[in-house]
Amino acid sequence: MLTSIQTDIEFFMSEIKLNKVVVYGLGAMGRPMARNLHEQGLLIGVKNRTEGKAMAMNDELNLAEFEDDEDLFSQADCVLTCVAADDDLKAVVHDFIDHLKPGSVVIDCSTVSPNTARTLADDLASRGISFIDAPVSGGVEGAKKGTLSIMVGADREQYKRATEVFAAIGSQITHMGRVGQGQATKAVNQVMVAGVAQAVCSALAMAEQCNLDMKKTIEVLSAGAAGNWFLDNRGTTMVNDEFNVGFKLSLLHKDLKICQATVKELGAQMPLIDDSLTEYAQLMDMDHGNEDISALIRLKRQLFEDA
Ligand code: NAP
Repeated sequence: MLTSIQTDIEFFMSEIKLNKVVVYGLGAMGRPMARNLHEQGLLIGVKNRTEGKAMAMNDELNLAEFEDDEDLFSQADCVLTCVAADDDLKAVVHDFIDHLKPGSVVIDCSTVSPNTARTLADDLASRGISFIDAPVSGGVEGAKKGTLSIMVGADREQYKRATEVFAAIGSQITHMGRVGQGQATKAVNQVMVAGVAQAVCSALAMAEQCNLDMKKTIEVLSAGAAGNWFLDNRGTTMVNDEFNVGFKLSLLHKDLKICQATVKELGAQMPLIDDSLTEYAQLMDMDHGNEDISALIRLKRQLFEDA
């Protein structure tokens, strides 16, 4: 009898859309995501480790006040997390897990390992809370425009419940399979991102040495077979030594560690990943960890100085 009631409740919950969202993590990505959710009327509150950022966003969006964290999270049917790395995500989930009601859903948009996604899904499932891994691609620009590409790992029912949340922050939303498959897709994406950065930073450092007009070079290459997003969006800034845009290289370094572990689990090794890790670690040692990944051109320029 109890089992049948539980099944009925689970079926009922699976039909309910998520429309009371709390965003946890107001970094470069989380802030614009929160704004877009607010615009669609889906946001009830925000939370951040550094409290000032949450207070500023509460003021900006004129959000309702909550007595405390318990009051905030117990009223949510969805918490969307976007924090830096695996351990940070585990810490924040365990910060609110006791306050969430059964039937609610945690959607994680951070980039973490597939194993972390699966472990958290198990922890939450034991309390009747669902977990969706939903890493994103498209950079801060995509987060601001609400045009992120979202790689989703989830049960089909939970995926359907979250469609309005995803539609508020992204434009390409793809269900990749069960929990963990979103993060596996993101790891594949990051190998490609690292490879494109290697190619574009090396090629533009070479173009500088050939004394080419860099504006014309970027224009003509963008229109041909070598054209790509990174060249279009980071080509001009990197040749002008502007590295304060976009995606911090310390975050790509963290992601490439996940890629390296994933490839190792598959019994292989990939020089592209290993070499990129070495170079981004070198840039972090040189105090460039907060710069965009296009700062890799600094090391590619050195190849010519050392010649
Ligand atoms: P960010 O600007 O560095 O923000 C990181 C956020 O995580 C901040 O809210 C920070 O809180 C919080 N945080 C870090 N450690 C924490 C901890 N131990 N406990 C609680 N909160 C913690 O990073 P971001 O660019 O928004 O990136 C967030 C995630 O999205 C990362 O996994 C990243 O790989 C991924 N991502 C980023 C981009 C991009 O272009 N930036 C693109 C796709 C995916 P504080 O404010 O207190 O520091």
